Parts: sequence; structure tokens; C-alpha cells
Amino acid sequence: MSIARKPVCHHFTVDVEEYFQVLALEPYIPRALWDVLPPRLDVGLRSLLDILSEHNALATFFVLGWIADRAPELVREISARGHEVASHGSDHRLVTTLTKVEFRESVRTSKSSLENTIGRPIVGYRAPNFSIGRGDEWAFEILFEEGYRYDSSIFPGRRGNRFVPSERDPYCMRLAAGTLHEIPLATLKIGNTVFPAGGGAFFRHLPYELVHSALRSAERRGMPGTFYIHPWELDTNQPRIRAPFLTTLRHYGGLARTTPRLERLLSAFRFQPIGTTLGTYDPIPSVS
Ligand SMILES: [Zn+2]
Repeated sequence: MSIARKPVCHHFTVDVEEYFQVLALEPYIPRALWDVLPPRLDVGLRSLLDILSEHNALATFFVLGWIADRAPELVREISARGHEVASHGSDHRLVTTLTKVEFRESVRTSKSSLENTIGRPIVGYRAPNFSIGRGDEWAFEILFEEGYRYDSSIFPGRRGNRFVPSERDPYCMRLAAGTLHEIPLATLKIGNTVFPAGGGAFFRHLPYELVHSALRSAERRGMPGTFYIHPWELDTNQPRIRAPFLTTLRHYGGLARTTPRLERLLSAFRFQPIGTTLGTYDPIPSVS
């Protein structure tokens, strides 16, 4: 008698921020303008929510506190459609630029804004631009102390990542105060080299097979792979911000490929929120 192995459910994740909050564009678009620029989040976000619905897929949305304070109706819509809401920090400042006090404030205020917006607990966190690296382990202690139960900020193999890419699959971190789950972004190992394959620009600019192969290889290890995308990556008509050629190529190149590639990915794999894998999130809230 053979026992059928349960198919792996991967993680589809979304970093929810406006088109003008992208780190690569920060030198060309001052933060002082954030409140006066025309918002566009709803365009890409609603396309994404519709594609996910068409494929019966649920995701984890890492949302900025800044967004929860200005567009709470969009955050409520994400939650009402069954997706998990988690924190992307307050205002998209890199963890490496924050003091411990500032980081605690960022994760505390974004958690409380998001919880007040959707009326459900927030237990997941992703650092802007995956900016937690070796030497920043203090951030994990603060996350746990502030009530978070998982982090998804480590992107093994990514340029500038300061972690040795030895842990490519989800794992538990034993901290002074308790256990924090780490959910790294998907990678593909060829020979002894680990390539970043989690989504975003890698998904738009490199062949589709990169991410597809990374998720298949995670399945062979019996592990979920974690994919990420931003709403602005589906918004082909977003205003163009003037920046050097290579920056604009990286940011705006391949936007038209995002939607068809997402359709292909969602047809090929099953996805669920990270919190569902960890047992911390149920799409149907229990009534007490
Ligand atoms: Zn971000």
C-alpha cells in the first residue's frame, strides 16, 4: 500500500507599498512628497487580488503601517478576501539605518495600526528590502518581544545579503525569550552556488523557469518555497519617476510580463499564507 504524500503548499507573499516608496527610487523622490503624490496602490493591488481569487490561492500581504494609516479600506479588503495581513514596518526605512529603539517603535506601531484596521492579530514581519543580515540578530529578539511569531526577511544568495546561505528552508530560531520562525525567500542551488529566485525583479527580468525550478526543488525537499511580488509590479501605467538608466530599467523593465507569469505560476503550484503553514492563521476567523 502506498501512502500518497500531501502536496506542498508554497507561500505567495506580497510587499504592500506605493510605487514611489521603492528603495531604488528613494534618492530621486523625497519622502516629503509621499503625502502629495497621487496614490496608485489600488490599481496593482486589485489586479493581484483578482488573479489570486481566480486561482483559489491565499497569500500573505506584508503591509506598511503608512499604508494602513492612509488606505485602511484596502487593508480591510485584503483581509476580507481571506488573505493573511502581516507587517512590513512603518515607513519603509531599512533596518540597517534604524537604532534598536527606532526598530522597536516601527514594528510596534505598524502592528498596532494593522491590528486596529482589520481586528485580527498580526504575527508576521518582513523587513523593507530584506534588510536584516548578519550582525542584526538583535532585531529578531525585538520582533519576538513585540509579539511577532515569524520573520520573512532573509533572502539567501541575494547580492548584499550578509547571511551565509546555509539555511534555505524555513527553520526555528531559538531566542532568549522564545522561538521565532524564519521563512527565507526561495532560492535555486546549482552546484555549490545559491541563486536568489524568490520573485520581484528576479521574476520579471530572468526566465520564468528560475522561480518555477526553485519551487519544484523546494517540493523535492518536502518544503514550501516563498515567492514575493509588489502591487506596483502589475501596474504598467504607473507614473515614471526620473532616475538613472539602470535604475529605471530594473524598476520598470518587464512590468508587462508580471501578470502572465503570475497566471502561469498560480496554475502550476498551490499556495497558502505563511501563517497557515505555521498554524497561526486561519482564513475563517473563529467567533468567540
Ligand atoms: Zn518593501
